[in-house]
Amino acid sequence: MENWIRVTNPCTGEIIDTVPRSTPDDVHAALEAAGSAFRHWRKQPVAERARLQHEAARLLRGQATELAHLLARELGRPLSGCLTELSRSADLLDFYAEEGLRLKGEIPQHNLPGEKALVVREPVGVVVAITSFNYPITLLIMKLGAALMAGCPVVAKPSEDTPLTTLKLAELFGQAGYPAGVFNVLTGYGHEIGHALVEHPITAKIAFTGGTGTGKRIGEVAARHNKRVTLELGGQSPALVCADADLSVAVPALVRHAFANTGQFCYRVNRIYAHESIYETLLDKLVAGAEALRVGHPLSGADLGPLINDKIYRNSEQQVADALGKGGVLKTGGSRLTGPDYDRGWFFPPTILANGDHSMQIMTEETFGPVLGVMPFRTLDEAVELANDSVYGLAGYVFSGNLGTALHLAESLEAGSVWINNIHRSYHDVPFGGVKQSGIGREKGRYGIEAYTELKTIYLTY
Ligand code: NAD
Repeated sequence: MENWIRVTNPCTGEIIDTVPRSTPDDVHAALEAAGSAFRHWRKQPVAERARLQHEAARLLRGQATELAHLLARELGRPLSGCLTELSRSADLLDFYAEEGLRLKGEIPQHNLPGEKALVVREPVGVVVAITSFNYPITLLIMKLGAALMAGCPVVAKPSEDTPLTTLKLAELFGQAGYPAGVFNVLTGYGHEIGHALVEHPITAKIAFTGGTGTGKRIGEVAARHNKRVTLELGGQSPALVCADADLSVAVPALVRHAFANTGQFCYRVNRIYAHESIYETLLDKLVAGAEALRVGHPLSGADLGPLINDKIYRNSEQQVADALGKGGVLKTGGSRLTGPDYDRGWFFPPTILANGDHSMQIMTEETFGPVLGVMPFRTLDEAVELANDSVYGLAGYVFSGNLGTALHLAESLEAGSVWINNIHRSYHDVPFGGVKQSGIGREKGRYGIEAYTELKTIYLTY
């Protein structure tokens, strides 16, 4: 067995670098280091944790260009998108640093002579953070920035597809002055070391972002050992476009949110339900928007890059074939891009399938690629029923000129977040997470930090 994992450029298949293929012994060593660091990190003044975290954010901004080039090579995303990920990650570190300073316990007003109860927050302990490939730095910072502020050391296990930027991040945290053992990175295959990471006695909590199947396996092992979890899993997010929607806003938002990062993000728009009166008009505009996007290499000024690997690529190809076999109509895209720029990478164009129905995978299963299903609806009740006919519940999108209708639809959708009348990036100070099989728990905001603490009640007699 080789002791290394090859990291390849998804545009060309070239090997960029190799990283260690960790074993359960390495897991033990990393968790021992984190466990030992916990003894002093839990006692570190919160202001000192915040000072270090602001310093890490400052260094991340300073090294953003170098890191963005590395991210572009391992992930294939256009450079501008990589720079955005890094600057947003630095902002999230700063946000968590400030929010951590506001963590509070409470003293209930019992008015009993000589008695009080103090409710305090304590760090849960060592956190294992396992992440997927699509936003390697942001997904980790969503966990790391919160856990460190709460007083929990972290052992991170990045995706085997994109481990290089996470290793650089660890170097950067070292430069910021973090004590040894507080932030550790292990590279390796999930199926080889995931189990050891989750069940190890030192692991107190697992914070995971990845596929629903993997999350359920982690959840099972964690439950057997009574470990805490935050699970950010898959999505199949619907958008409802009503007859009175402003299409000049809806169309660019939907195109952006269906195809950004080549469709490789969990809360992308996967399926659209459009009122029958605007269905054809909306389709034409969506197709024009999709066809204006350029696919190519990260430094070529393209809007979209390749898919990360063979497995992720096959989903798109298979879901298109499945839809076409069941009456779907291909409006644009649909097959692998070919030519000198494309032949060695996993390039799939923005693809739109009309006449969708719920027998098709594109309307029911996560794609994690640039394929969008569109289906007409007649009544709002029908639209809500279709939108909620899913095992997933990560996000939903509503477009209507009537705010009352829009709010009613937003309240009816089974989703962790709903956007009305435009789609912004998720904010750092509000919670993000899923319902149903899209996950358990919330990241970001104060909720994100509280998730790494446990309450303790101290009864005091004096
Ligand atoms: P994946 O589940 O294959 O892998 C994610 C991580 O889990 C990787 O680091 C992998 O090595 C590790 N892993 C694999 N098997 C494991 C095991 N048995 N035990 C422990 N760890 C294991 O997912 P992926 O293909 O990297 O990413 C795509 C998925 O991630 C999609 O389903 C997507 O929706 C989801 N995702 C969710 C969110 C969210 O916030 N909800 C965000 C991004 C991605």
